[in-house]
Amino acid sequence: MLGNTLVTGAYHALRQRIDAARGRDGQKVSLIAVSKTRAAAEIAELAALGQHAFGENYVQEALGKQRELATIPGLQWHMIGPLQSNKARIVAEHFDWLQTLDREKLIDPLNRFRPDRVAPLNVLIQVNIDDEASKSGCVPALVPLLAQRIGAAARLRLRGLMAIPQPADDVEVRRNAFQRMRKLYEALKSTFPQIDTLSMGMSEDFELAIAEGATMIRVGSAIFGPRSGNRQA
Ligand SMILES: *Cc1c(COP(=O)(O)O)cnc(C)c1O
Repeated sequence: MLGNTLVTGAYHALRQRIDAARGRDGQKVSLIAVSKTRAAAEIAELAALGQHAFGENYVQEALGKQRELATIPGLQWHMIGPLQSNKARIVAEHFDWLQTLDREKLIDPLNRFRPDRVAPLNVLIQVNIDDEASKSGCVPALVPLLAQRIGAAARLRLRGLMAIPQPADDVEVRRNAFQRMRKLYEALKSTFPQIDTLSMGMSEDFELAIAEGATMIRVGSAIFGPRSGNRQA
């Protein structure tokens, strides 16, 4: 099957680029394969290669794939799209990570609805690092308060920060956004030493993000090819 071969080849090539970007100092970088708009069969193919963490932007779409893939053990689901309050319960019940917590209001329902039979929900605070009017994410100044509230919620586990910097042609503009995220992350880590995740970098800029301290990257099109249709985030 030609399609499968393409995804497998792209995945191996991506893995090599990640290894090269990590350099020699043992920096750990975890890869989230962003599977929005992609079929369950493509996820299954990657899972067979050892890729277990997948990112989805739309709750209903993710639930459908989770049902189709229920027999594959060890899949880890990351919600990476903006979260409406009325979807908090579904995320608490069906995901392993939420990367887009950006307001206090979400914390109580997430904590309340996280089932006791599973591990606490891993949470990243999403920061609107470029202060874009149309983007989700909190202002940097809100991070300490949100972190404190998440830290006090028994069924949530604060893991760190996430950002989607403004697309910019100028590499130095992008680098600057990643550097500001890293500073925020280091500052937060001085109060919450248990945090271990700085999620930034996508297909276009993950090497730069790794160079600036990302511990987690979220990559879609570099694995699966360009997304068609109008549901791009
Ligand atoms: C779609 C998406 C990605 C992946 O984007 P690519 O450019 O396809 O790698 C990463 N993070 C978020 C939040 C996304 O919505």
